[in-house]
Amino acid sequence: MKIKCTCGELIRDQTDYLKHKAHLIPDIHWFDFWNAIDAAIEKSGTSKKDKEEACMQLRKQNMFRRLWECTNCGKLYIDNANYNLVSYSSDSNKYNGVLDQKE
Ligand SMILES: [Zn+2]
Repeated sequence: MKIKCTCGELIRDQTDYLKHKAHLIPDIHWFDFWNAIDAAIEKSGTSKKDKEEACMQLRKQNMFRRLWECTNCGKLYIDNANYNLVSYSSDSNKYNGVLDQKE
């Protein structure tokens, strides 16, 4: 996936562990997410296959939205509920590394 930022920068999303990308959980899904983890841990069976199935069910719930920060101007691009991008501009108009825990 590539996003053409309004500043001209090309935001690339073609691999994992990106410093300018994050996954967001809307507050309306926050407790559902933790309850799903609890259920996967507490209610899965004892076999390896049962545990794998519980993990797959958790991953299928798709409660996350994606967001990216432009590494040039700091604009954020966020998926809305229909997976269309909505953008928000940084006041500083520079890359702030807000999604990179190392900064
Ligand atoms: Zn930009």
